Amino acid sequence: MTDRKDLIVGNWKMNATHLDAIQMIQKLHYRLEVEDYDRVDVVVAPPFTALRSAQTVIEADHMLIELGAQNAHWEESGAYTGEVSAPMLAKLAVGYVIVGHSERRQHFEETDQDANRRARAVLANEMTPIVCVGETLEEREEARAEEVGLSQLKGSLARFDVTQLGSIVIAYEPVWAIGTGRTASPDDAGEMASFIRERLVDLGNSEVAASMRILYGGSVNAGNVKDLMAKKHIDGALVGGASLDPDKFAAIVRYRL
Ligand code: PEP
Repeated sequence: MTDRKDLIVGNWKMNATHLDAIQMIQKLHYRLEVEDYDRVDVVVAPPFTALRSAQTVIEADHMLIELGAQNAHWEESGAYTGEVSAPMLAKLAVGYVIVGHSERRQHFEETDQDANRRARAVLANEMTPIVCVGETLEEREEARAEEVGLSQLKGSLARFDVTQLGSIVIAYEPVWAIGTGRTASPDDAGEMASFIRERLVDLGNSEVAASMRILYGGSVNAGNVKDLMAKKHIDGALVGGASLDPDKFAAIVRYRL
């Protein structure tokens, strides 16, 4: 038995105005029971423009939904037009920040070093980084999924001490499963999560590795979540498309083994 509490994160990507966000969060809140939050930490990550409204509605109605952000710059402030810093997010009661998402890597040429710098800033501001790793279809077909995952892990987690490592969440997201409706089989996802945990032992130690949460992401929905979450080393999900519909997202949160 493990005492890792499941974590389910809705990554809204570049969707929802601040007005949409208020409605979506209210609907999600009404669809969940207090007991759901005993089993699962529930996080939504709206676009930056909706964070302030999301924070206000969550606090005003004493909701148990937590707030995430989709990225953070590594500098605290300065001449970085268009960027948002970790202290700015922390001030908005953001608890989790996604870093190294494959869409950032693919469309904005972000590297493991960028993910590492972002994760460092997130931790320094007492938030939890969600570090994303995962192979492309080509890499999986070449049987390089583990090699790629390991290299991304090593790069993104470079020079963290053991205590810092223990405060990080890893999301295994095979690129070919993101937004495609094509989910990794529970066995494949479970094997990768197990591989990642073994590597976390090497990067930290067995106690820290056993305490860290590893999420699966890639076309998770209410129909497949249960089989994925049944895998010993999968401790939750990073959900894109299905998190935009409060009914679907609530059903994912409320899966039961
Ligand atoms: C994601 O954005 O991290 C994701 C997993 O998206 P989707 O659930 O739509 O595949």
